[in-house]
Amino acid sequence: MFEQIKLDYGFDALEPYIDSETMATHYGKHHAAYTANFNKFAEQAGKTGESVENILAGVKEIEDPELRAGLRNNGGGYYNHNLYFRQMIPGGSKLPTGALAKKIDDTFGNFDAMKEKLTALAMGQFGSGWAWLSKTSDGSLVISKTDNQENPISLKTGHTPIMCIDVWEHAYYLKYKNLRASYVEALWNVINWDVVGELYEA
Ligand code: MN
Repeated sequence: MFEQIKLDYGFDALEPYIDSETMATHYGKHHAAYTANFNKFAEQAGKTGESVENILAGVKEIEDPELRAGLRNNGGGYYNHNLYFRQMIPGGSKLPTGALAKKIDDTFGNFDAMKEKLTALAMGQFGSGWAWLSKTSDGSLVISKTDNQENPISLKTGHTPIMCIDVWEHAYYLKYKNLRASYVEALWNVINWDVVGELYEA
């Protein structure tokens, strides 16, 4: 049985950047629904004993189109939001440190250059989707964007996501309406770089 990640902060703890009503709906309704549907499809597919990463990495090979779409959309929604909610903390944790900070500097020049590039991907995603900071098997960093609930695992890129930006309208419309840029800018204030650093070093 797949379970939503437990939040160690309240729905109102990310104010004013991410508002309480959005958190309650996003976590309590959207993520809850992805999780329930993922469990349903995983059971149908006889995959309840597998990790979500394994299921997503093998999703393209599932023959039944309804099962394939169900696992891709809901398994992706389950996985993506677990990372999204895990990577946030009230007040943020300032900036990356240690090995992650060094790799960001080596790869992008500096933190602000990475932020600018990833923000541009988030803004350039047409319609619903995600922007990603991921690590490769040799410890390199890459940024990318995906449609809907796809992610670097379901696309079989070989990359492991360590930080993400949800650009579905449900992530920001209650507070920011059509202003995706304002939401993305706000999100940078509540990223827990300690968690992202741990995922990078894992
Ligand atoms: Mn979402």
